[in-house]
Amino acid sequence: MKKKKLGILGGTFDPVHNGHIYSAQAVYEQLQPEKILFIPAFIAPHKVGQDFAPAADRYNMTVLATQDYPYFEVSDMELRRSGISYTLDTVKELQKIYPEYELYFLIGADTIPQLQTWHKIDELLQLVTFVAAKRPGYRQVLDRACSSLGVIAREKIVLVDTPEYEVSSTDIRQKIKSGASLQGLVPEPVEQYIREHRLYLFTDEGHSYAED
Ligand code: ATP
Repeated sequence: MKKKKLGILGGTFDPVHNGHIYSAQAVYEQLQPEKILFIPAFIAPHKVGQDFAPAADRYNMTVLATQDYPYFEVSDMELRRSGISYTLDTVKELQKIYPEYELYFLIGADTIPQLQTWHKIDELLQLVTFVAAKRPGYRQVLDRACSSLGVIAREKIVLVDTPEYEVSSTDIRQKIKSGASLQGLVPEPVEQYIREHRLYLFTDEGHSYAED
C-alpha cells in the first residue's frame, strides 16, 4: 500500500513570509501530502552565531501565517529540543511520530548547493526526499548538486515547478529597517505582529517601522 506523504518545511522563519507560504501551497497542490509541517529552527546549523528574533516570536508568526490553511501545521519540536537544529535529528523524531508516512523535506532551490554541507547528508538522503521549490536564479543548481552528492540525489531531490516569489526574510528585515512597506510580502497578521512587538527595529540606525 502506498504510504501517506508528510511535507516538512524547516526554516528560521525570521520572519515567515509569503514566499514560504506560496511555495508550500504550490508544493501541497503538486505533491498532495496529508499536511505540511512548518518547523521553526531553534538555531539553524548554517546560521550559528547570527542574531535572530526570539524563538517564541518566530513560532507565533508562523502560527499566524498558516492559520487559514487547514493542511499546514506548525511544530515547536526544534524549539523544545533547543541547541543546533539538525534536520537529521528532526527527521528521526518525525519517523517515530509518523511511522506510516513518507517524508518530503521542502527547500528553496537556493538551498540545493548547500545540501552537501548538511550534517550527515548521506544518511538524511536515505530518509527523506527533498522537494525544491524554484527561487529566482536557481534553475541550474540541481545538475550541479547531483554531481557533488552522487546518483542518489537524482532520485531524492525533486525540483517542483512553483512560481518564483522574489522575497526573503533578509529583504523583509531590511525593509523594516528602512521603513518600507511590507504589503504583499508577509501575511497581514504577521505584519501586525511585527508592528505590535516592534520586531526587527534597530533604533541606532535611525529608522522606525512602527513610527505612525
Ligand atoms: P533569510 O533571508 O533570513 O536567509 P529565507 O527567506 O531564506 O531567510 P528561511 O526561513 O531561512 O527563509 O527559509 C526556509 C526555507 O524556505 C529554505 O529552504 C528557503 O530556501 C525556503 N524559502 C525561503 N524563501 C523562499 C521563497 N521566496 N521561495 C521558495 N522558497 C523559499
